[in-house]
Amino acid sequence: MQFPVLPDFEPGWVWLVGAGPGDPGLLTALALKALGEADAVVYDALVDERTLKLARPGALLEFAGKRGGKPSPKQPDISQRLVQLAREGKRVLRLKGGDPFVFGRGGEEALALVAAKVPFRVVPGVTAGIGGLAYAGIPATHRDVNEAVTFVTGHNVSGEVPDGIDWPALARGAPVLVFYMALKHLPQIRDRLIQGGRPAGEPAAVVSHAATERQRTLVTTLAALVEDAEAARMEPPAIVVVGPAVKMAAGLDWIGAMGGRTLDPDPLKLKARREAG
Ligand code: SAH
Repeated sequence: MQFPVLPDFEPGWVWLVGAGPGDPGLLTALALKALGEADAVVYDALVDERTLKLARPGALLEFAGKRGGKPSPKQPDISQRLVQLAREGKRVLRLKGGDPFVFGRGGEEALALVAAKVPFRVVPGVTAGIGGLAYAGIPATHRDVNEAVTFVTGHNVSGEVPDGIDWPALARGAPVLVFYMALKHLPQIRDRLIQGGRPAGEPAAVVSHAATERQRTLVTTLAALVEDAEAARMEPPAIVVVGPAVKMAAGLDWIGAMGGRTLDPDPLKLKARREAG
């Protein structure tokens, strides 16, 4: 296979890389190269185990996320650790779920590297709010359905529903709203959207563990979102999407059509399964 030449991963550099929502098949070529060459991989909780298995044998694997209710490492500590590893002359792969610059604090880490004069590269990844939805058969935009889409966090720095959002404007602003980190504050989000004028009967979906083997999709309405998500025990990480694009899931559930398998390495098996109905 002909492949464009990729940049060298130089010792002393940090690559700030998005790992996508789960499926290692969604890694970029740069992410795969970085995994194969890194001396140290500093990864977050959302990075799929299958992806970590692609790291070079012998690479130092360091977890820098929240686990089992224990307090997560402080952001400045993570940034300082990246600086330290780079100054030791290591090739440092900072691996984050989705895209590092989408609700991922990648900007904060990059600023710390700039301040410390550590050379770095940013490698975007497939963000859960687009790629995760695609794995549930929900296009973030579709002609004649929505001409705009808005990405929102359901969580601010202190863990509350963000106050900086003009909720009535958000409710009116785009036909499709994609929420990250929204499960905890789902009741408030539903109420603010309905108060802001979104129809209670509007389609809404929750996609949990998108693009992993544990992916589950709930399709419901804005009014029933909270009760249905609880009843279905939808767990984080999850994307919540509100708007007409959700209706597309019924016809575009390609994973369901493949027998519920997110990843099947053998296209012939897939074809056989489809033909067997
Ligand atoms: N940088 C990440 C987002 C990090 S914020 C990205 O670009 O995707 C964490 C939130 O991302 C989660 O609370 C959830 O809303 C979303 N998320 C990340 N991975 C996900 C997945 N596999 N399935 C569903 N939601 C996911």
